Amino acid sequence: MPRTRFLRASLREVEPYTPGEQPKLPTLTKLNTNENPYPPPASVLRALAELDGDRLRRYPDPVALELRRAAAELYGCAPENVIATNGSDELLRLVLTAFVEPGDAVVLPDVTYSLYETLIAIHGATMTRVPLRPDFSFDEAMVDTAGALMFLCHPNAPTGQPAAPALIEAALERFAGVVVVDEAYADFAERSYASALPRRHDNVIVLRTLSKSYSLAGMRVGVGLADAALIDALMAVKDSYNLDVAAQVTATAALRDQAAHAESLAKIKATRARLTAALRALGLDPLPSQANFVLTRMGSRARARSVWAALRADGILVRYFDRPRVDDCLRISVGADAEIDRLLARLEVHLASAPG
Ligand SMILES: *Cc1c(COP(=O)(O)O)cnc(C)c1O
Repeated sequence: MPRTRFLRASLREVEPYTPGEQPKLPTLTKLNTNENPYPPPASVLRALAELDGDRLRRYPDPVALELRRAAAELYGCAPENVIATNGSDELLRLVLTAFVEPGDAVVLPDVTYSLYETLIAIHGATMTRVPLRPDFSFDEAMVDTAGALMFLCHPNAPTGQPAAPALIEAALERFAGVVVVDEAYADFAERSYASALPRRHDNVIVLRTLSKSYSLAGMRVGVGLADAALIDALMAVKDSYNLDVAAQVTATAALRDQAAHAESLAKIKATRARLTAALRALGLDPLPSQANFVLTRMGSRARARSVWAALRADGILVRYFDRPRVDDCLRISVGADAEIDRLLARLEVHLASAPG
């Protein structure tokens, strides 16, 4: 953390989260933060353009009812089962605020979305990390681990591996605390738990974001689906006006244009298959992904780092995680076809001269 003598003692050792680089140079090929390569549909841009001054002059709806109605329709529940937040990152913080006492344990896999660890540390909770299996699947030992809350990312980041129904069911039956199923990438996966689980269990919240599959990362909108009692608790601890008018209006329009959404998903899944096959043809070892990124083993840590740096010098950004289990990998977001072609061409060149 930054140093100032005023900083809370308990924050002095906390590592801040490092987001992927966000340089704004238009010439860059940005495949490092899993944004959608396609713009939001015309219906969404129109809803934004039609916002009038009066809507901006007034405070937004504090409970985002229209947006929650749209989400409820989509997931087959009631608005009472939905909370809307400023990105699902806000919701990750809210579940800690509402359900975890500082000092309590939070259970999570190792490796997963690293923001969980930062938020847990800031909150003053402790972490119990359960290693993924060597093939990067979840270890069922997680569900019998003591804790007030569990983070389960489906499909997991940065591996793109799904959580099997048996694992989810076991967690809901045996884990003592709240189970957070983070479905940031589930629209790209074979299955989602968003419709079924909150109806049958009162100890689960499913998180969705509009940042990835709906092309709205810049708007910052997430939703949570859960039993109404869990939602009430989360509503009670959020900021009153956590979601601005533009975000509410665009997100509502986006959820209501499922035809455009399906089109975007189909393009990304087709490019994902092509990217995975091409990486394999280059002699690499990509994991079959259910997300809008592909994690590929590069052969060694030295090779991963060298290729990452060489791509970066070409203006092609991909993600490298310097931590055990994934430090020999690169994570590549599924961009537009031309971006992936550019990546593959340069990758081939760099692999020829990279260390073994
Ligand atoms: C991108 C991402 C989020 C956050 O999404 P926002 O809605 O943009 O805050 C949450 N969880 C995972 C695993 C993600 O990759």
